[in-house]
Amino acid sequence: VSSSPRTPGTGAGTAAQRVVVVGADAAGMSAAHQALRTARARGHEIAVTVFERTSHTSYSACGIPYLVAGDVAGADLLVARTAAEHRAAGVDLRLGVEVVGLDVVARTVIVRDLRTGERARHPYDDVVLATGAAPRVPPWALDEDGGPVAGVRAVKDLYDGAAWLGMLDAALAGPRPVRGVVVGGGYIGLEMAEAFVRRGLETTLVTRREVMGTLDPDLGARVRAALEEAGVTVRIGADVDGLDTGPDGRVTCVSAGDERFEGDLVALGLGARPRSELAAAAGLSLGERGGLEPDDRQRVADGVWAAGDCCEHLERHGGLRVFVPLGTHANKQGRVAGENLAGGRPPEAMARFGGVLGTAITRFVANGVHVEVARTGPTTEQARATGREVASLVTESTTASGYMPEAAPMAVKVVADAVTRRLLGVQIVGGPGSAKRIDTAAAAIWLHARVDDVARMDLSYAPPFSPVWDPVQIACRRLADRLDRPADAGRQGRPGG
Ligand SMILES: Cc1cc2nc3c(=O)[nH]c(=O)nc-3n(C[C@H](O)[C@H](O)[C@H](O)COP(=O)(O)OP(=O)(O)OC[C@H]3O[C@@H](n4cnc5c(N)ncnc54)[C@H](O)[C@@H]3O)c2cc1C
Repeated sequence: VSSSPRTPGTGAGTAAQRVVVVGADAAGMSAAHQALRTARARGHEIAVTVFERTSHTSYSACGIPYLVAGDVAGADLLVARTAAEHRAAGVDLRLGVEVVGLDVVARTVIVRDLRTGERARHPYDDVVLATGAAPRVPPWALDEDGGPVAGVRAVKDLYDGAAWLGMLDAALAGPRPVRGVVVGGGYIGLEMAEAFVRRGLETTLVTRREVMGTLDPDLGARVRAALEEAGVTVRIGADVDGLDTGPDGRVTCVSAGDERFEGDLVALGLGARPRSELAAAAGLSLGERGGLEPDDRQRVADGVWAAGDCCEHLERHGGLRVFVPLGTHANKQGRVAGENLAGGRPPEAMARFGGVLGTAITRFVANGVHVEVARTGPTTEQARATGREVASLVTESTTASGYMPEAAPMAVKVVADAVTRRLLGVQIVGGPGSAKRIDTAAAAIWLHARVDDVARMDLSYAPPFSPVWDPVQIACRRLADRLDRPADAGRQGRPGG
């Protein structure tokens, strides 16, 4: 892989630099617009063409569970920028057109118009692969024709959002209570469980591990308790491997071994895999998790860039390749790719993506229960797996001064290197106003802070917002105190110690 940038605007003997972007959502459109902005600022001609196989562009997949729950009045509200707005800004956006081939030597893509079936070759100087991720849909969830069994669906795009609204409306119009099963206890599972409960479904969540497997199990168990308090039946440690259908072909239950969980509607929240078939067929190498492996300038090969969920990401401090399909990364990476491909800068001056910590946030709010969840950096187990001596501790605190009516309980778990005292990871489970405090921790970890540094930081305080000591700060201070007592068992890094 060459790392020397080509001078933009000089490709293939044309006046304008020809850029093709594959995929018109977060990563692709960020790249397209940044390429235009950068080229304009540098005074060179650029032509950006974006191919998108669906009829949607720049929508918030993140908002779909809230659309399904009824919080968002319509799918249009989830569209950040319409096709017309993209075109008005100078992007040649082709919807309903799939890129079916990529020749990185000839610098051409082959596209197929999904309405007419027509194929065409489209030359480029630079291509951005922003093809996203596909939800995991296991074979048991598919019917004979390869489509999802009626009543069963993943949650990925606006088509899924519309399908879920239709399925729920139809089911709720019937005479009897509707039973919903959510398979998977991660972010999307939690958010769909919220949507189901809020729509009045008798909800069961079935998951292989503890709820919120991206947390330490002791914190995940707190999330599970909140779900149960809201009336969700939660079954952990069950690996769903089949389903039954009724005479009408609709799902009636999912099964895990001999165990059955009855449901009229089944939401799949089983994670995603990078959509990298196009890249693989073009001979581009893929990582262990099946994603493209761009460098920190989002460059894959000469004239080939990649961004978003089709990529594996570099973990910021460990340098490991991880797959963390989140919109926050897709937007940033698209911008980096767009700037670099149009910037004509030497390698040392190019924009760089700073890596990921695995910072993430969600909530479950239904039936009078409000639990927020956030995490950043490695869990205790993940930190130990790197061979470190790890210390961790859970602190109970409140989101506001205890005497304020809005004060809600929150638990903060801090994970630190017991030798260097570096803060490695933080997890939060708590009431309203708790989770977004993860950003203090993420910023501190990003900048290599030790727990002692966080304990001394100048953070804000007033009774409605925080105890005098911010909860993240309290947790770090307590862990620092513990590390000052070398005989303490916490130094052995017992989870939740
Ligand atoms: C239900 C849900 C909730 C989420 N919540 C959050 C959240 O709270 N916070 C967060 O940070 N992230 C969240 N995410 C993740 C976030 O939505 C994704 O990380 C983000 O959309 C990735 O953007 P992307 O552009 O890389 O990929 P995508 O959004 O998947 O877009 C890729 C596009 O490429 C198109 N495409 C693929 N192949 C081709 C081809 N060959 N030719 C033409 N077009 C093609 C696809 O149709 C698609 O439109 C959530 C995701 C889901 C599904």
